[in-house]
Amino acid sequence: MLVTWFLTFLAMEFAAWFMHKFVMHGFLWGLHQDHHVSRGTVFQRNDAFALMFAIPSFLLMLFGSLEGYSLKFHIGLGILVYGVAYTLVHEIFIHRRLVYFGTGKNWYSRGLRLAHMDHHFNTGKYGGKNFGMLVVHPKYFLNAFRDLKKKAKSRK
Ligand SMILES: [Zn+2]
Ligand SMILES: [Zn+2]
Repeated sequence: MLVTWFLTFLAMEFAAWFMHKFVMHGFLWGLHQDHHVSRGTVFQRNDAFALMFAIPSFLLMLFGSLEGYSLKFHIGLGILVYGVAYTLVHEIFIHRRLVYFGTGKNWYSRGLRLAHMDHHFNTGKYGGKNFGMLVVHPKYFLNAFRDLKKKAKSRK
């Protein structure tokens, strides 16, 4: 069970990266563009992608539960858990939709924020970087770690 959840979670980070790099910044750029350009509205066209992942998750859980909670159910559940984590990190923590959580108090959350800000530094379809969300280049964690150290020092 745990292994299924873990592998699904990992596979989803890869799927999200792939989707972001080749689909959202590819032929479905029209749906992702408003996330890079305006971001002023309550709902973004970009939110359609959350639905695209929610539907297979829902169907897997539905059919899996009808088969007595088979493997399908647990894969569907793993996708759901990843979706919730992605939403919490990307929409709420990084883009501050709904609530404000600051800029990250530990090297991991701060590093994720730095990496994704770097993704948004580029507002066009091409030339972007950091398409992953929860797994990013270690240099961002290092920078975040240094930032926090500097901050701690200046407080003394
Ligand atoms: Zn993007
Ligand atoms: Zn974003």
